[in-house]
Amino acid sequence: MACDEEKKESPTVFFAGEIVNPTSDHIVLYRGDVVIDSALLDESNRFSIKLDSVRPGLHHFYHYPEYQFVYLGKGDSIQLRLNTIEFDESLVFSGIGEEVNNFLIEMFLVHENEKEMVYSLYHLEPNLFISKTDSLRATKLQALESLAKETQLSECAYNIAKANINYESYISREAYPFYHKRNKGEKDIHHLPKDFYDYRKQINYKDEDLTYLRPYYNFMIYHLGNLAYMECKDNCGGDMNIASNQLHYNRHKLKLTDSLIKQAELRDNLFRHFAVNYLLKPDQEENIHAFIAEFKDRSGNNRHMDEITNLYEGIKKMQPEKELPDFIVHTTDDQKVSLKEITANKNVVFYFWSGAEQKHFRNITKRIAKLKKEHPEYTFIGLNMRTDKLRWKSIVETSGLDKDEQFWTEDFEEASHTLVVYDANKSIICKDGVIVDAFANVWSSF
Ligand SMILES: [Zn+2]
Repeated sequence: MACDEEKKESPTVFFAGEIVNPTSDHIVLYRGDVVIDSALLDESNRFSIKLDSVRPGLHHFYHYPEYQFVYLGKGDSIQLRLNTIEFDESLVFSGIGEEVNNFLIEMFLVHENEKEMVYSLYHLEPNLFISKTDSLRATKLQALESLAKETQLSECAYNIAKANINYESYISREAYPFYHKRNKGEKDIHHLPKDFYDYRKQINYKDEDLTYLRPYYNFMIYHLGNLAYMECKDNCGGDMNIASNQLHYNRHKLKLTDSLIKQAELRDNLFRHFAVNYLLKPDQEENIHAFIAEFKDRSGNNRHMDEITNLYEGIKKMQPEKELPDFIVHTTDDQKVSLKEITANKNVVFYFWSGAEQKHFRNITKRIAKLKKEHPEYTFIGLNMRTDKLRWKSIVETSGLDKDEQFWTEDFEEASHTLVVYDANKSIICKDGVIVDAFANVWSSF
């Protein structure tokens, strides 16, 4: 691994910067899920972290409630500047080590912007799809080659930047058979050319330097999902369209993760992902129980075990016909009320939003306005999460939302665990304090 070779000599590293419109008073630097250091913002909203040594590679910094990645290598001295109102879009790095970091954030934004366009390619025949997505990839790889020629990228930084481009492209290849089938309304998986999956020869299942690289991690999710589907289709002879196969299909995923992924952190994170994903879809209690048993069997020492257990307990409490949990929220004039009180004698739909996610907020606000017209039988209640209280009030005010229908949650962790909010478009339908459907979705349930 290229990144470890640089470890021997790692002089002091500086990580500093300025946060415009801070949403918290400090910044935390992580490598994986380990806190490396943290720093308070000073009166001019600047922070500075000095590290005596660093294991070169991908880190991330967290400024409540958002985070982004930063590459730190030996002798780097990075200054960042960002404005929390457009967190990712505003982020700029300068100083020693700026090149790879600006490149990575640029690629992050390019990938975000490309999503819709790539989505529109899934209806193409396989060979055309390959050539279109390969040419997108080639353009980015060329940009990386020019950067590498112009600047002094370390081998470690170069490899991460390259993997960032490649795995993002491989994701679309893993997804293609399924999106193509859905978009074209085909009954079976489209016949694929022999070399369709050739890139799989390049997959490294245990590159520690990539464990927290988003495209690499997301690739593993799609890849294992694809393998699980094909394995089931080829061996189990069941009807793949039957939703009651959820448990069965997810067991394939657990089995494949167990056999393919040996790197401890990646393995734990993927097991966690598949568990959360499965648990959040309604299934019979005995199935959930069977799934958890298999999860414990294959990943008993998972570092996320407490989270999975809590989620499982939370989900059991959010089943239909159970009473809403005792959960306190705040009104715009600083009164505290429980969710039960809000729903008394009413049909209520709770939905969620955060001041940190402007695009989602705009979309969901529009959607709710439409639903309010179509479904006058429900009262739609917005629950705000992850936003400073004053900022929340000001957003409610300036967006012209009905103050009686907006409430603020104080503790993000508590709210997301108690109400099981893992999906930004999740909603909870209830009637007079009793749950009707705690896993509804504002886009698909009405
Ligand atoms: Zn199967």
